[in-house]
Amino acid sequence: KWQAPVNGEYAPNINPADPGEILGMFPESCHADVDEAIQAAVKAGPSWRQTPSPERGRLLLKFADLLDQHADALGEILTREQGKILKESVGEVQRAAVEARFMAGEASRLAGETLPSERRGVWIQTIREPLGVVGAITPWNFPVVTPVRKIAPALASGNPVVFKPASDTPWTAVYLMELLIEAGLPPGVVNLVIGSGSVVGQRLAESPLVNGITFTGSSATGRRIYTAVAQHLGRVQLELGGKNAAMVTDYPDLEGAAKEIVAAAFAASGQRCTAISRVIVSRAEAPRLTDAVVELVRQIKVGNGLSRDATMGPLINKERLMTVEESVGNAKNSGARLLTGGKRLTELGNGFFYAPTVLDDVKPDSLLAKEEIFGPVLPIVTVDSMEEAINVCNDTPYGLAASVFTEDIDKAMQAAGAIRAGMIHINHGTASEAHVPFGGVKASGQGA
Ligand code: NAD
Repeated sequence: KWQAPVNGEYAPNINPADPGEILGMFPESCHADVDEAIQAAVKAGPSWRQTPSPERGRLLLKFADLLDQHADALGEILTREQGKILKESVGEVQRAAVEARFMAGEASRLAGETLPSERRGVWIQTIREPLGVVGAITPWNFPVVTPVRKIAPALASGNPVVFKPASDTPWTAVYLMELLIEAGLPPGVVNLVIGSGSVVGQRLAESPLVNGITFTGSSATGRRIYTAVAQHLGRVQLELGGKNAAMVTDYPDLEGAAKEIVAAAFAASGQRCTAISRVIVSRAEAPRLTDAVVELVRQIKVGNGLSRDATMGPLINKERLMTVEESVGNAKNSGARLLTGGKRLTELGNGFFYAPTVLDDVKPDSLLAKEEIFGPVLPIVTVDSMEEAINVCNDTPYGLAASVFTEDIDKAMQAAGAIRAGMIHINHGTASEAHVPFGGVKASGQGA
């Protein structure tokens, strides 16, 4: 059932393409709301745990079908509150359906092992048990697929969930709950609490009644959550930030590489954890690759995501816009050369629009080359050897994804072995698939 927050407080949800448009008022929930949601999950846990897992899978199949059926309607809401273009939003909902369907199948495969014993007449069996209440805390950049990636596996495995979406994208979260209800989810098995990270998220992470937290967001918040969950020895799964390189050495089709790089760098306005956020290229190939990248970036049409001809939407909010502006300003001051973009697009109105930006002459040890910016900004670093490229690639706190463009299979394998990242792509941009492991190393993740 839906209920009002105990404190009666609400905050506006705005459209980042047109901040004057208030999409709705959503709760600013407090500790009492979180505690009640946790209690509801605790109460619903035993019966959900005893529900045969293939039956749990059937519910997820129904949910997947509903996601497909509602892809256009939910996609439009996603664009209105998050900003990404409609094609990407509808694609995200359809991808969420694929994730839910995959997990529906996994529900029937919760297999254990039988092992021989050291003793005669004894056999040993391992079984997979539900963990208990799972707290799912998600960011705003993929407000449909990320929650589904957390809720669906938790449900398949017999765990009740308390779900806390990002404050910028509560509407899609409400819609997901409606679809779960329509799919036949019993009361209390998934509980949505909308509110701030410091109040709702932190309370969830601190609660000893929550047995595990699955979190996607920034590395800084991930550290706070890890610390809080450790106090009661809960489990954590952290999907965090990235500084994903595209490394280009010995690749004749530089125009083809540029196409892959630009698509992976500027989708969702660069606000993807796996966005390509720096190019590391050999000195010989740099001029041609840079020209090809800049030409493609200049073709990007920024606008309201609902407009059919826009190919990139706004940033999520004013803070993000200011951070991106500041990062580009600092990079220019430290010697990087602006090739295109580098400014707010005020001619598009009050929306949080920033021009897709490319810089070269970027020093490998500068903040722009090493830190996550999370916006439509692509720095290009030039190197003299494959060895230097790998060193630059690894010289960042993050280790999420990387793309390597080379026609030399030995170099591809050498790079794949030497790059410290959770996911390495050869000759294409960064992407993920439902049935494939996803996660990072170093400051990019834990427990995934
Ligand atoms: P964020 O860390 O600010 O917020 C993520 C979520 O955590 C939100 O729901 C927020 O309200 C909540 N939160 C904030 N403080 C909290 C606290 N003290 N306790 C508990 N919860 C708290 O991240 P963001 O700005 O929403 O998202 C952008 C970040 O997410 C980027 O760093 C990006 O790389 C990362 N990300 C990673 C992946 C991945 O899979 N590796 C995917 C998407 C985004």
